[in-house]
Amino acid sequence: ASLAELDDSVPPTNRVQDRTQPAAGAATDHFANTPDTDPALAPNRVWGREILARIPSSELGNELVADTTVTELHELNTIVDTAVEHSGEWAALGGSGRAAILHRAGDMLNSRRAELLEVMAAETGKTLDQGDPEVSEAVDFAHYYAERAKDLETVDGATFVPAKLTVVTPPWNFPVAIPAGSTLSALAAGSAVVIKPAPQAQRCGSIMVQALWDAGVPREVLALVQLGENELGKALVAHPSVDRLILTGGYETAELFRSFRTDLPLLAETSGKNALIVTPSADFDLAAKDVVQSAFGHAGQKCSAASLVIMVGSVAKSPRFRNQLLDAAASLNVGYPGVATSQMGPVIEPAAGKLLGALTTLDAGEAWALEPRQLDSTGRLWSPGVRTGVAAGSNFHLTEFFGPVLGVMTAETLEEAIAMVNAIDYGLTSGLHSLDPAEIELWLDTVQAGNLYVNRGITGAIVQRQPFGGWKKSAVGAGTKAGGPSYLMGLGSWVPAEASA
Ligand code: GLU
Repeated sequence: ASLAELDDSVPPTNRVQDRTQPAAGAATDHFANTPDTDPALAPNRVWGREILARIPSSELGNELVADTTVTELHELNTIVDTAVEHSGEWAALGGSGRAAILHRAGDMLNSRRAELLEVMAAETGKTLDQGDPEVSEAVDFAHYYAERAKDLETVDGATFVPAKLTVVTPPWNFPVAIPAGSTLSALAAGSAVVIKPAPQAQRCGSIMVQALWDAGVPREVLALVQLGENELGKALVAHPSVDRLILTGGYETAELFRSFRTDLPLLAETSGKNALIVTPSADFDLAAKDVVQSAFGHAGQKCSAASLVIMVGSVAKSPRFRNQLLDAAASLNVGYPGVATSQMGPVIEPAAGKLLGALTTLDAGEAWALEPRQLDSTGRLWSPGVRTGVAAGSNFHLTEFFGPVLGVMTAETLEEAIAMVNAIDYGLTSGLHSLDPAEIELWLDTVQAGNLYVNRGITGAIVQRQPFGGWKKSAVGAGTKAGGPSYLMGLGSWVPAEASA
């Protein structure tokens, strides 16, 4: 659909939403992206301040919200057997039957927006401005996959047979949208689901699951497990009744989980080491804003974050872009999400190991243009860092750090810059700032990444408009894209109609 068509399909009541009023239910016969909270509306500012008042202002509050229920090893078999037993009834509802429930799930998630924002902030340190689009994305996944479920009928003499049981293991950095998207996709396809939220974000996971139960997804079909120990996660993934695993996390985690059961089909979105290229033709004001948002949003803790900016030709030689970028990064207010002025929140664990190294040490030829400072005693609050002189092939060029530090590389030509991007093992997101159509075409044709963004930031993919998924070591297993038309196809198999009858 063209952009104009998409916009025409959005009912006006969905565009402007006063959060103090009950949300308008989404239409159930088409998909439209749900709007983020508009702070230009006065009631929404009051609504936001009330949420802020409930969030700790000087630390993470995860100990306040952590759910202590831990699933025991001996309970796993019953949970898995029950889910498998009931998956047939769920599949038998058909695409339209499941869609009706999932549309309701989207509305339920939207109606719990305030609670989700509060718990995301407390558990994972996410600021409200980062959390709000994440709730919208979760809502979008519900309505989008609901509509896609209706496509899974017999096509060309083949019938879609859903997986019976899908296990979902999401990360903590998008503690609502990713668990919701993964769970909703499998449910839409007709599979039962066992979800194990990230240990750091268990409450986010359980609110999401509760919203789906409230919408009418049977508890037998959607089970929530909270596993305290690795052995239990391994036992779950290795269970012979599991048909699919949807995992989002580090590349090494995906490889580890795959080793638990090598024949288990896996849909994994994994690590990223993403670069944004800026050429001399770019709009520097826009580029500086987009680099800063992509590098330091959620303190850089996104697989999609910009970890490198590559300045081409004269961009590196003139101080203009460099100064704009450094001024913008230096001006970010860093603080816990309970403080209204915080623009960049904490890192979720006290910086240690690889990340601490990236925040405190330089390699040969590198210098701090903006040196990260530790801002409180927890080891979580850091001011943003920008290191210059990152050399091709160096540690910072090639390693994912998942924190608020950006490396600057320079290239003589766009071709050289693209080669620097393609030398990286990962290929999740990539960006180009250029107003030259020939440069844009060259970059689009040759850069290796799953999601390519021209003249915008490289985080915040939007359901349906920017289906999200990686290439190279940013994906393991079936490489379909979340929030795109083919994602559900990976959650079952097509068999000749006679065979399935
Ligand atoms: N989908 C998110 C984005 O586009 C990134 C997800 C992740 O970090 O795993 O920013």
